[in-house]
Amino acid sequence: MLRSRLAPTPSGFLHLGNVFSFVLTWLIVRKQHGHLHLRIDDLDADRAKPAFYDDIFTTLDWLGLDYDSGPRSTEDCLRHWSQRHRLPAYNQALERLVQQGVIYACECSRSLLATQAPDGVYPGNCRAKNLPLTAPNLAWRMILPRETTIAFHDVQLGEVSIDAALGQGDVVLCRRDGIPAYHIASLVDDIEQDITFIVRGEDLLPSTAVQVAIAQTLGTEALSGKSSQTLPNRFANVQFLHHALLKEDSGKKLSKSHDSLSLKAMREQGILREEVYGRCAEFLGITMENPSLQALLEAFSLQEILSTK
Ligand SMILES: [Zn+2]
Repeated sequence: MLRSRLAPTPSGFLHLGNVFSFVLTWLIVRKQHGHLHLRIDDLDADRAKPAFYDDIFTTLDWLGLDYDSGPRSTEDCLRHWSQRHRLPAYNQALERLVQQGVIYACECSRSLLATQAPDGVYPGNCRAKNLPLTAPNLAWRMILPRETTIAFHDVQLGEVSIDAALGQGDVVLCRRDGIPAYHIASLVDDIEQDITFIVRGEDLLPSTAVQVAIAQTLGTEALSGKSSQTLPNRFANVQFLHHALLKEDSGKKLSKSHDSLSLKAMREQGILREEVYGRCAEFLGITMENPSLQALLEAFSLQEILSTK
């Protein structure tokens, strides 16, 4: 059975770009009679705010996007589903990587890197320093040699191969404050939640490459005591769909900093949900004026969308 997830981050009000991704995921899952999980990516506690959790539930409810598992309210999320309850699983994966010898501690400060690596690519300063992993206030990085090409299949783009180190060099997998990085949390959750189909924006292609590289390094042993199956291998069978990004009229990428394009602002302006579905339909190349979600589902065909791209 196809299993996918909506994975919003409660660090801002959801905007049209997030919603397009959600609607596309929902259409694919419902068309295939699959399972849709809601996972709120809230490991970064500094940025997660109650109002942004509430906004996720309000927006999904307003849009009529139902899901089969996951939190039903902010309180339910914080109490039972928050990624902060899953730190042991993430730490276990990190520990496995340490055992594989691909993790080292990094003491470089943000300001040092801003001067030394203005392009954001970590120059490898600490690779050979052998700093103790247990020392406080050190980040953990995973060695990603340049030109390690990661290949995976994308439903829309076909065969993709990317240098996993592209854009960032050795990737931080545990922050200085001891919190595992997004890549670890997202990968471990996708594996343990049996996700088989991941829909995300094409801006996340490099992230996918990093996560595939981590999964390959984790190898084929079980990640946790959950089962004796080869959990990371399951990630090798995940299907990806990286979709084009909705842009502002000016051509700029939508972001959470543009509150005027948030669904909250749209609701307050009295915009109808059918108009939002209409924008999604248009972006998918389906000609329908302000359809209902049900009508959009009936008109939707993943194969057709792929063949017109
Ligand atoms: Zn360093």
